[in-house]
Amino acid sequence: MNHLFDALFPAGRDLSKTCVTRPGGSIIDYAAIIEGSARYARALVQLRVGTGDRVAVQVDKSLEALLLYLACVRAGAVFLPLNTAYTSHEVGYFLRDAEPALFVGRPEAHEELAPVASSAGVQAIETLGRSGDGTLPSLMRNDGGIWQDVPRGADDLAAILYTSGTTGRSKGAMLTHENLRSNAAVLVETWRWTSEDILIHALPIFHAHGLFVASNVTLMAGAAMIFLPKFEPAEVLRWMPQATAMMGVPTFYTRLLAEDRLDRDVASRMRVFISGSAPLLAETHEAFKDRTGHAILERYGMTETSMNTSNPYDGARLPGSVGLPLKGTSVRVAEPETGEILGTNEIGVIELKGPNVFKGYWQMPEKTASEFRADGWFITGDLGKIDEAGYVWILGRAKDLVISGGYNVYPKEVEEELDLLDGVAESAVIGIPHPDFGEAVVAVVVPERGRTVAETELIAALRQKIAAYKLPKRVVVVEELPRNTMAKVQKNLLREDLQHLFA
Ligand code: ATP
Ligand code: MG
Repeated sequence: MNHLFDALFPAGRDLSKTCVTRPGGSIIDYAAIIEGSARYARALVQLRVGTGDRVAVQVDKSLEALLLYLACVRAGAVFLPLNTAYTSHEVGYFLRDAEPALFVGRPEAHEELAPVASSAGVQAIETLGRSGDGTLPSLMRNDGGIWQDVPRGADDLAAILYTSGTTGRSKGAMLTHENLRSNAAVLVETWRWTSEDILIHALPIFHAHGLFVASNVTLMAGAAMIFLPKFEPAEVLRWMPQATAMMGVPTFYTRLLAEDRLDRDVASRMRVFISGSAPLLAETHEAFKDRTGHAILERYGMTETSMNTSNPYDGARLPGSVGLPLKGTSVRVAEPETGEILGTNEIGVIELKGPNVFKGYWQMPEKTASEFRADGWFITGDLGKIDEAGYVWILGRAKDLVISGGYNVYPKEVEEELDLLDGVAESAVIGIPHPDFGEAVVAVVVPERGRTVAETELIAALRQKIAAYKLPKRVVVVEELPRNTMAKVQKNLLREDLQHLFA
């Protein structure tokens, strides 16, 4: 019995059903996914990947990459995907940290990465290209053909996923078979997934969103996914009339809104649009609803915990809120320093407990210990509150909290007011060292296309809305905010750029 694989591929399913549609239109059924992942699993064994060994993978998104993930699960290995944007220098760090038995890279990067991997002590180095080329698939030609899944239990590791590195160095989150199984199961139920669903899958699969949320949910439901190599609005709109669901980061939605073709017609078969990984602006929510009739369903998760909360499928999807705790997951808000549990609408750090919460950070016992309370709750590092109806609201990261003149300023509160002002497309509020205030509130603002905004006018307009201590001391206008591959605003880069603003 293989805890995760058996749950994703339950016995008795119709194996002739489509699982993956490739961008060119070719169709792969469930039987072919099972057979293909067994072939990769046999290749792993040939390469001496043993139970519990890490398999580090930095390859382009493809059907083959998905099969390799499933093969790791079936072979009892620990899948460790790496962001395709990482440089060889960064890959070297992850390989030294994770000590994988095998590294699989892109064929075109082999020359550069092979020496990096060997000097990190990796024994087996293979390649896998987008169309099934590379040295790994070539191992599979004459391999005998029998495969039996390696037994794995609930508590065994299935994957190590590195966090996005938004607030500091990426940490490897150790995820068990049950972490991933339980989360996929609760999402299938919460979002009413069935075998009739067809998902537009345009997310990368080196991150929890595209790999565990999008792929595992589809597989567990016996549904299908249109597996696009990356997000391109025109391509997504081309497929939309055939699809029932999409998952995306907020920029997917803002970029779709910039396309004239986005309307009710093109989305007529769509059942649900889901957003996460970064905050969705209330404005985007409203604009999308106006254009398509769909209220985007926003949810909240982390690499360490997969999904934690979701707006309801039936019932109010509140713009700006990340919804209600998923069944089985408990959410509370605590005073960050003392850990005292706070009441309704009180702002503090969001803490979690449930079958989704990871086993700890890979090779970081102290970091792991410091992120858990004595009673076992995981401290997310996100600030938020829970309202009377039980909805969770995120107010930003604890690390982004601005303390100005002794007062706490929650960036989200100021950003929301700024975003409402005429001519402002979006904003990021940060704290910058200041000789008198300790930190000063600074707003970085992106004007709407073709508009200009003036610092003094924006500050004057805000003065009508928020307390004086929350007012930005300066407003810096930029063309766009720095974002990482998961569309998260990199406030650390903004703080670095502006660190001498008051010096
Ligand atoms: P690092 O931990 O390395 O600094 P990271 O926290 O960005 O990076 P991820 O695990 O990919 O890495 O992201 C999880 C974080 O993303 C959450 O802690 C939260 O801050 C943010 N997030 C996810 N979904 C939402 C959402 N719907 N609204 C607001 N923030 C969200
Ligand atoms: Mg994090």
